[in-house]
Amino acid sequence: MDFEDFQIYDSDLPESALSQFLQSAKLAVDTETMGLLPQRDRLCLVQLCDDRGRGAVVRIALGQREATNLKQLLEAASVLKVFHFARFDVAMLSYQLGIQVAPFFCTKVASKLARTYSPRHGLKELVQELEKVELDKSSQSSDWGNAANLSDDQLRYAANDVRYLLNVQQKLVEMLKREGRWELAQQCFQCLPTIVALDLLQYKDVFEH
Ligand code: MN
Repeated sequence: MDFEDFQIYDSDLPESALSQFLQSAKLAVDTETMGLLPQRDRLCLVQLCDDRGRGAVVRIALGQREATNLKQLLEAASVLKVFHFARFDVAMLSYQLGIQVAPFFCTKVASKLARTYSPRHGLKELVQELEKVELDKSSQSSDWGNAANLSDDQLRYAANDVRYLLNVQQKLVEMLKREGRWELAQQCFQCLPTIVALDLLQYKDVFEH
């Protein structure tokens, strides 16, 4: 399978992978979970890919509440963490592993601000339009809890969710700058920790009338 640049680790990154990823200016990050509620559904995988295409899949154990090296990396000020729909992954990582991700970029927010010609802002659409690659999302809703026995299809899916993300991010940055939306995007990313905090307290919309 096309997985040779990805390493699989249990519970946390080893020191060697941590120092390698700390040298990258940008890092694509994604998570796979048992569901959509951080308070109910556990975190199963954390996937990473650096700007040279080197990736990692970290399997999170049942009941695991911390990952020291992952925390150091995801909180490192020198590394921009790029997510697609950061609102969810940042909440999960905060609630389950006590990681306060910073700084970060969200390709979904960037796409909504830049690609106003399209109603479609899923990762599959972005990778298709900007990278001309067809992503297979058939493993999206699958059992990620059995981390020791993930299928090749699941691992390929998990890796592909971060493999193209930095290229997509770079193209969205260029579009945001071209369209005069770069500042607005930065402001959205700055207020995202507040939105995540409200989500974790289960407020629906405190700005509503
Ligand atoms: Mn994913």
